[in-house]
Amino acid sequence: MTGPEVPAAPPERASRAAIVAIGSELLSPLRQDTNSLWLTARLEEVGIVVARKAIVSDEIADIVGELETASRSAALIVTTGGLGPTADDRTVEALARWLGVSLERNAEFLAKIRARFERRGIRMPEVNAKQADFPPGARVLENPRGTAPGFWGRRGDTEVVVLPGVPSEMREIMEATVLPELARRSGGAVARRRILRIAGMGESAVEELVAPVYARWPENPVTILASPGEVELHLVTRGDPAAADRRLRAMEADFRAALGTRVYGEDSAALSQAVGELLRRRTLRLALAESCTGGMVAALVTDVAGSSDYFLGGAVTYADSAKQALLDVSPETLARHGAVSGESAREMARGALARFGADVALSLTGIAGPGGGSEAKPVGTVHIAIAGPEGKELLKKRLFVGDRDLIRRTASRHALELLRRHLLAAEPA
Ligand code: ATP
Repeated sequence: MTGPEVPAAPPERASRAAIVAIGSELLSPLRQDTNSLWLTARLEEVGIVVARKAIVSDEIADIVGELETASRSAALIVTTGGLGPTADDRTVEALARWLGVSLERNAEFLAKIRARFERRGIRMPEVNAKQADFPPGARVLENPRGTAPGFWGRRGDTEVVVLPGVPSEMREIMEATVLPELARRSGGAVARRRILRIAGMGESAVEELVAPVYARWPENPVTILASPGEVELHLVTRGDPAAADRRLRAMEADFRAALGTRVYGEDSAALSQAVGELLRRRTLRLALAESCTGGMVAALVTDVAGSSDYFLGGAVTYADSAKQALLDVSPETLARHGAVSGESAREMARGALARFGADVALSLTGIAGPGGGSEAKPVGTVHIAIAGPEGKELLKKRLFVGDRDLIRRTASRHALELLRRHLLAAEPA
């Protein structure tokens, strides 16, 4: 089966796509549209820029209205969601209305859906029959993981690819059929992306460092994305695969030269992975002592498969009594300087090092708020200490801004980044 023949769209729309995420649940505070992020990255790789994204309810009028608007700015519309068998799944009906056609039941697909149920020993509920209804002339996109097939249709010079909402099903159909077809049409032009990851620095500090580099790559888009404690630098090049790869490598080298070891990893690498690799390389074992982060650093460290190779454990010591009993922080230090102090942080790290028998220990103590701050120790004050390896120590005081959640998340990543830099600096030449 081949895709529908497409008349040429005006150049400004031709290589642009619009994504429509369909589903009232995506408009609730409970669910997020993540499909469009994945779709945007993959469409870019075949030279298609996403010019518009929308989330609409399951109402036919909302879907049709958005298709109408989206088709004005993009020659390709990708919809996800609303292909299920229930009455609130109205995507196909809305598409038929927008295409100006009546749906036709496809006997071949109806048999396939029925057979899928029978293989599981279940009789197909009659409501599922509507999943074999397609606009006439549309190309059916089989869904090997689910019952709802997608389809590829066209109105005038606008194409529409209709996909299920379940992320794994949507991805599989895109990978198997849609992306290869779009790549073929683009005459081999691709987009290549490299993400450089930086932690423990603000967005504007990163921006300042790389500003002179931007200027050398005027044709290539660079995006800076910030999340708590981390900054991502997205570099993108376009063209035929060899040229795009070559340009991306040169661009990456240029940005890395400006950032040096501040880049902890690339693409999907996690900060805790970079720390883990350093520990493993030097066969160092890590222990943690956490107060205000309540185990968040331990959660990040153990997110990495195989972290048992270097992570011994951690103590979450919230009360002064726990800091004394589990980490040997002296009552005198606590009385004189308070639990949120560099002195306490240092003793927490030393205590964790000794008690766990580790080579290096990281500790945090601070005020996450909203209450508990004072003029001398405002909310967001966090002391971070590192003890070891080989007798080396590090002590830092930081003031983080934001609400409790943001302060804790930023502090956790910041502490891991300090550990990473400490391990790099302590690396034998
Ligand atoms: P199926 O019939 O196979 O369930 P569907 O097209 O009817 O497919 P939906 O009912 O819209 O899919 O959504 C199914 C699941 O996929 C839901 O859990 C929903 O939250 C999730 N989902 C839908 N759209 C998106 C999206 N844009 N991003 C992330 N998840 C999504």
